[in-house]
Amino acid sequence: MTLSQFRLDGKIALITGGNRGIGLATAQLFAEAGARCMLSARSETEQSRAMTEAGAHAFHAADITDPAAPDALVAATLATFGKLDILVNNAGVADGGDFHDFDDARLARIMDTNLIAPFRVARAAMRPMLEQGAGSIVNIGSISGHVANKPQLQVAYNASKAAVHQMTTVMAFEYASRGIRVNALAPGYIRTRMAIDGMEDPEISKVWADNTPMGRFGTPEEMAHCALFLASEAASFVTGTTLVADGGYITH
Ligand code: NDP
Repeated sequence: MTLSQFRLDGKIALITGGNRGIGLATAQLFAEAGARCMLSARSETEQSRAMTEAGAHAFHAADITDPAAPDALVAATLATFGKLDILVNNAGVADGGDFHDFDDARLARIMDTNLIAPFRVARAAMRPMLEQGAGSIVNIGSISGHVANKPQLQVAYNASKAAVHQMTTVMAFEYASRGIRVNALAPGYIRTRMAIDGMEDPEISKVWADNTPMGRFGTPEEMAHCALFLASEAASFVTGTTLVADGGYITH
């Protein structure tokens, strides 16, 4: 065993939500580790454009909730790079409010983005991975799949992330003997656009920080390190796990 097991030289990765936040940091680290990536989101950002212009990565614009998008995304990856070794199923949205007032449109948006789309993307990615007899899938879940959120109420989001964790477990079971590992990463509170409003609200921010034993929020780069481990050969005997990276949030 050597440190080279943590590298991704020659690997091709597909990263949904790769234009900012955790997905972007993962794309940056994967490039450093030697991989080339297909990044996807509804629109390109300055940072993701810089990476595609530098030549390491490519970008495919798509609304992942479009039922046709996942197959098209995997097809674009294969057309551009010729294969697919790693999927980071990262795109997601959060929304909250009282359960008894949470309407169908918001419920559908959460479930379509956080559960149905990752299911379809993983299903589309699985086919070329099965053909090559190897692959690694990292589904981005959340501590919200383990606990109730506070002070914000987010039952649909919590349910979607718990489902991602269970989807991970069962996919891992189904494909372990065929060379494909499937794991999840469950971040705690991470400084990205998704969480920034809460972090900038003194009351919400205090509750989140007080409940995080390390007393601080995580960074997208810290999540990228975890995703790299799970995606790489360093995790060659790891499948079906959900790696919680939360500064200790769910310890109590
Ligand atoms: P961001 O809001 O920064 O990133 C979300 C990403 O998802 C963006 O790239 C966005 O791109 C993409 N996305 C959202 N909806 C769609 C869609 N319909 N089609 C295509 N792409 C879409 O947040 P994070 O980086 O924090 O989130 C990444 C993942 O991490 C999510 O799954 C989130 O649930 C999870 N997570 C985040 C935590 C946090 O505290 N930040 C905690 C736990 C989990 P665009 O809008 O341009 O399409």
